[in-house]
Amino acid sequence: MTNVLIEQNFGNEAGANNAHSLAILGGSRALKRDIPVGIRWDNAEREQLYSMVNQRSLFYWNGPQSQLLTQRFNEHYPLNYVMPCSSGTAAIHIAIAAAGVAPGDEVITSPITDMGTVIGILYQQGVPVFADLEPNRYNLDPVDVEKKITPRTKAILAVHLAGNPCDLSRLRHLANKYKITLIEDCAQAWGAEFAGQAVGTFGDIACFSLNDFKHIGCGDGGIVASNSDAIGPLLQKYGDKAYDRAAGTKMPEFLAPNYRISEPQSAIAAVQMTRVKAISEARAKLGRLLTTKLSGVSGILPHQVNKEDLCSFWFYMFRLDLEALKCDRKKFVEALQAEGLPCTEGYIVAPVYKYPVFQDHNFFAGQWPIKALGLTCMDYRTVCCPTAELILETCVTTPISQWMDEAWIDGAAEAIRKVASFYAAQ
Ligand SMILES: *Cc1c(COP(=O)(O)O)cnc(C)c1O
Repeated sequence: MTNVLIEQNFGNEAGANNAHSLAILGGSRALKRDIPVGIRWDNAEREQLYSMVNQRSLFYWNGPQSQLLTQRFNEHYPLNYVMPCSSGTAAIHIAIAAAGVAPGDEVITSPITDMGTVIGILYQQGVPVFADLEPNRYNLDPVDVEKKITPRTKAILAVHLAGNPCDLSRLRHLANKYKITLIEDCAQAWGAEFAGQAVGTFGDIACFSLNDFKHIGCGDGGIVASNSDAIGPLLQKYGDKAYDRAAGTKMPEFLAPNYRISEPQSAIAAVQMTRVKAISEARAKLGRLLTTKLSGVSGILPHQVNKEDLCSFWFYMFRLDLEALKCDRKKFVEALQAEGLPCTEGYIVAPVYKYPVFQDHNFFAGQWPIKALGLTCMDYRTVCCPTAELILETCVTTPISQWMDEAWIDGAAEAIRKVASFYAAQ
């Protein structure tokens, strides 16, 4: 009721062109231009594809495009074993299989992530165990991860959400202490660095996505890589029907799908790889700037990044402190959109464990064989990660891209400040 009165007064007295009145109430917009966008490929990709068409084969193994992709990947990520594959989901499935996750083995991971993080765990008959998150960095909370470790824990699958590095020193320490595998889901974290070192080089296995929406992409694709002599040689086999391409033998010793990349994808991806540094550094700078500009704004909890880390901001996600605001998130976002800032309420609809597939344990035609066999007593209907739920209930996401400039970020911060101060609780 008070809100309605204030808005009416504000709208009438402030007039349509008052810079301080909200655009949603007839004031002028904080952002006066459209969000900058661009095309992610140019002549470099075109020429690479032309040269590829002269090849006799478009098969990945020993294909020049896939070799170039691997070589360029290695310039950023010096890992001895690299398997380019068909998607980020495939990369993670390969990693889970190569880590030796057996039926009933547990893999601790984040409840705020893409489905691709958990698909491979389930197909290998493993059990995703969701640990809670840090409230302002949105990544695995190492304290809760340690609480979730059991004798069945085989791996920690750390998701660097939005390109913000997980606490890799503490997660690495836990993995060593409990002798479990650390897998990094770097799908959203191309170019990100933890304490000055590339994410993907801390874990036993690193997984990347090249889907059309990631920092770099080739339509669909992925990369899985490792420095471990025990795990590394398995990556190629688990992505290619358990055929050993290096030895030239087809005598499968275990079950593995076909997750191969192809030369056209590798050609695009190899060129995209040359853009990683510029893209991630541009995004890191813009995101960091937005966080600086939002610090101290009442009602706003900015996307937090550790000082010594490089977050490559696949998107920007801040939270509302609803107790300091006299509006709900829907109203806040509508006001922000009216200011010209593209943004949405929340991120994924719900924590992954709340999806119907988990609530119904509907993994294999309505059944979950490992549970029927007594290999797990997991019941996703009882899982709760309170901080993850709070994050999803209070967050607002807005894009960050390499085509933006500081003026855009100034406008974005101005829009957020304007809406936050209008709705400030006092
Ligand atoms: C995109 C994404 C994946 C899956 O990658 P695809 O290439 O789409 O299969 C996995 N994990 C995270 C965190 C992602 O963002």
